[in-house]
Amino acid sequence: MYHYLESIRFERDLRFLKANGYRTLNGDEFLERLESNSNSLKEVLLTFDDGQRSLWHTAYPLLREYGMRGVAFVIVSRVTDKPKSKLLWPTEEQQRSEFQQMNNAAEQCSWDELLEMQNSGVLDIQSHSFHHALVYSTDRIYDFVNPSYLAKYDALRTNFLVQENNQCFVLGRESFGAPIYGHYPLLLSNVWYHDDPAIREECIEYARSMGDGFIGQPGWKKKMLRYYRSINRFGQLHKGSFQRQLGPVIREDLAVSRRILEQKLSRKIEHLCLPFGVAGKQAVDIATEEGYKVIYSVKPLSDVHPRSSFLMHRYNGDKGELPLKLKGRGRLALILFGIQDRLRRTLYTEY
Ligand SMILES: [Zn+2]
Repeated sequence: MYHYLESIRFERDLRFLKANGYRTLNGDEFLERLESNSNSLKEVLLTFDDGQRSLWHTAYPLLREYGMRGVAFVIVSRVTDKPKSKLLWPTEEQQRSEFQQMNNAAEQCSWDELLEMQNSGVLDIQSHSFHHALVYSTDRIYDFVNPSYLAKYDALRTNFLVQENNQCFVLGRESFGAPIYGHYPLLLSNVWYHDDPAIREECIEYARSMGDGFIGQPGWKKKMLRYYRSINRFGQLHKGSFQRQLGPVIREDLAVSRRILEQKLSRKIEHLCLPFGVAGKQAVDIATEEGYKVIYSVKPLSDVHPRSSFLMHRYNGDKGELPLKLKGRGRLALILFGIQDRLRRTLYTEY
């Protein structure tokens, strides 16, 4: 499993696989292996989550160069309609600036790019749900929507799904100042706290009225909190409610993503990567009913046992785990490179 790709690191993994005679599978072949219960120690499935632009400018050219393949899971609501961008082998300068780009990692591939990758046979495009959504699970304030929060966790990690007049939508940049309550991934939560739209609007309005530079100023969150408490005194405005029926919302999210991908890519969609890598039993059952045959998590979901789909957990390529699990020449060097690379990132992050 990879997310945002850096070419130097990713190419090392591919070189290791090639040098040691590993064969990469596509989605159909992987499903076949699972159904026939046959596996070879020399076969691997490379997966890529979130559909970020590095899929197009790093994964695609490198996989093609090495004659390898993989499965990419895209967040359907995030795919853009932009034209295809020029496909260039990353220059040294581009590679160096990749660290700087990490914060812009939320930029997504377009339909044209996905279609080309799918048709090339190099990347098999599958579902990572429609919204990659989080839902509020408590009425306790956690934060307020603000630019640095979005930048820190990138837009994918702040997809708060809210409801108003029976319509679901995700809070975006136009919602700076809106309260963020305690939350869980949609597929894992068993309760949804519907916040009060009137309070949300008033908070957004208040942040706006404080002027352009207000959000981020010292003490701005305290002011927001004080304002929130002042309008919410004695629960006058507070009409938030808790809902436990999340099934229909989950079903819609998974069904729509599958339908759109099948229409746009003319390809059967049978693989689902769980947003945030987790889900509860109910969500996995719904995914199975909606036609997903292979469901991918990050860590093993020990309490979930789907009846008729395969639940797979994955090793983390972002953290250099690939050589920890696969035998071959150059393994030690790759492990050492992974450690060094992680250290470099920590230093960079602190800087
Ligand atoms: Zn994801």
